[in-house]
Amino acid sequence: MTTHICSYCGNEYKNKKRWYEHEIICEIMHKKPTASTYTNSHSLIEHNNNNNNNNNDTIANPNITLETLYNVIKEVVKKQYSLEKEVALLKKHTIMKTSVLEWLGQNIKPILPLKSLLNAFTKIEITDIEYLLRCSVIEYLNYVIERNIDTYMTKHTNKYEYPIFIYENISHTYRNSSVMAFIKIYYYNFDVQQWIDDDIIGKTLWNNIQNNMIIKLNEWKKNCSDKTDNIEIEFQTTLLKIIESKKEDTHIKTIKNIVYNKLKTNINSVSYQFTV
Ligand SMILES: [Zn+2]
Repeated sequence: MTTHICSYCGNEYKNKKRWYEHEIICEIMHKKPTASTYTNSHSLIEHNNNNNNNNNDTIANPNITLETLYNVIKEVVKKQYSLEKEVALLKKHTIMKTSVLEWLGQNIKPILPLKSLLNAFTKIEITDIEYLLRCSVIEYLNYVIERNIDTYMTKHTNKYEYPIFIYENISHTYRNSSVMAFIKIYYYNFDVQQWIDDDIIGKTLWNNIQNNMIIKLNEWKKNCSDKTDNIEIEFQTTLLKIIESKKEDTHIKTIKNIVYNKLKTNINSVSYQFTV
């Protein structure tokens, strides 16, 4: 007959169920307690042994103090609670993702082409370059893209005609102790007539505006009446600023944040249509 050995204390069990029950408790007993649980730094097992004159069989024999038992229960409850929370969150997200895509497919048929939206968001004027010379690329993106989205939204007031959809889902965790926000972007692929949840918008917008910045910077240089060294230095510094690749991720993130903040639809405002 096979015996089962506890990986914490080495006790042997013939009965699998008894071994399993023992090991769960033994694991907790061998764990170092947290500062809030105890005032001393002994582990649960040492603590227990001190009270029982170093009896090595205290775990197998459930002759443990009430205080230790209380702490074991506390640990078990904590463990179970965090597991339950994790499962619930995972479950919710899988359902949400499917239902938002489904809901979009059934309810939103955009009419504005994706290409024209991308172009409108990343359009820049030669006069904007004067600003770019003086500020960081991030400041510039915040200024130009925000302005462009505002212009676009004034022209097209119905957000449901847009080929992109951004939703924000705010969920409150246990006892509202923390708030979690999930933001997701979807775009409409006119070729297959379907909503897609691949997040390529940030990168595409960055590539577009980066190209436009380089083109306009060149135009600005050509238009400068005085061909001094200063102009050349300003041109070079600004060009380096635009093409600096190690900052690319930050730039994409900045763009996404602007788009999210301007266009997000809180899930609560449409949630009555979701079957979660
Ligand atoms: Zn054990």
